[in-house]
Amino acid sequence: MATTEKRDYYEVLGLAREASVDDIKKAYRRLAVKYHPDKNPGDADAEEKFKEAAEAYGVLSDDEKRARYDRFGHQAGGSGGFDPNQFADFGDILGDLFGFGDFFGTGKRRSARAARGNDLRYDLTLEFEEAVFGKDITIDVPRVATCETCKGSGAKPGTQPVTCSGCAGRGQVRYSQGFFAVARTCPQCGGAGKVIKDPCANCDGAGRVREEKTISVKVPAGVDDGSRLRVAAEGEAGFNGGPPGDLYVFISVHEHAKFTRRDYDIHSEQTITFTQAALGAEVQTDTIDGPESLRIPPGTQPSQVFRLRGKGVQFLQGPGRGDQYVHVTVRIPTTLDDTQRELLTRYAEAEGETPLQDKGVFGKVKDFFTAP
Ligand SMILES: [Zn+2]
Ligand SMILES: [Zn+2]
Repeated sequence: MATTEKRDYYEVLGLAREASVDDIKKAYRRLAVKYHPDKNPGDADAEEKFKEAAEAYGVLSDDEKRARYDRFGHQAGGSGGFDPNQFADFGDILGDLFGFGDFFGTGKRRSARAARGNDLRYDLTLEFEEAVFGKDITIDVPRVATCETCKGSGAKPGTQPVTCSGCAGRGQVRYSQGFFAVARTCPQCGGAGKVIKDPCANCDGAGRVREEKTISVKVPAGVDDGSRLRVAAEGEAGFNGGPPGDLYVFISVHEHAKFTRRDYDIHSEQTITFTQAALGAEVQTDTIDGPESLRIPPGTQPSQVFRLRGKGVQFLQGPGRGDQYVHVTVRIPTTLDDTQRELLTRYAEAEGETPLQDKGVFGKVKDFFTAP
């Protein structure tokens, strides 16, 4: 049965989130044997379950990937971290499961196959203006880098990888396990046909070490909440001389006290007095470039919107900017001095209205508490 929602990896393996490495291995072994394609020929559902279990195992058996998955869930996947390279050591997994390590009687298996490094995700929060105008920033990214001692080969300097004894350099082995007999990528060399005999002491033969790298990122003007920047080749180091992955910077933007952004347009509020609304006025209004004068025509209504062309955000692609929309709020005075009251009373009478008489402080308070 096809499902669009990706299942939780723990659910796939039938485990609790605090499952031990051993639990994870056992659960995967059970599912891999049960759903193995060789045991369920032509059964698409079994094949799907086999792949699903392998993917879950690929992530949960790796401390780093598991931690990232626990934090971000499947969102950590996609370009964020888990790419097909997570299966780079798939041969090792099966080797472990079906006892190849013992079968070949060797110690640690070391793969010499080149593969691209994993992509990395970095979450960056910007101020509103930083997103609007862009910014050159530096970020410290913890990552796996190429080992300088062996230049990523994993072999002790001065030594070379040797032909794999498990497959005689062919990269593939045939084996039978219970019901099935298949040819598989050699688990001893990962299909490379060569293994490292004298591992580099600095990286224990992995060719890669952990480090924290300071990386300069040019955030272009116009990025928005949810934007994603790709910094090529700044992800994790490749395996055995393979190319590095990419670094993806996921951007979120703080809200601004005065401005709201909609795509490349900016929306703001401008409070004016009721006399400015009635008679018209020239007011100063805030834009991202500083105060600008805005003409309020006579007879402006509450909630009326004025557009300031080109006062929005710089387009990410190509020249030009969005617009600013100024939403007008009309303020009605809450207190009047004698002169103001007299003038307004005369205005009201000219309109044929009968204004309320001033009831003094006590009456106002009472009105306040009985207002609907
Ligand atoms: Zn090394
Ligand atoms: Zn081999």
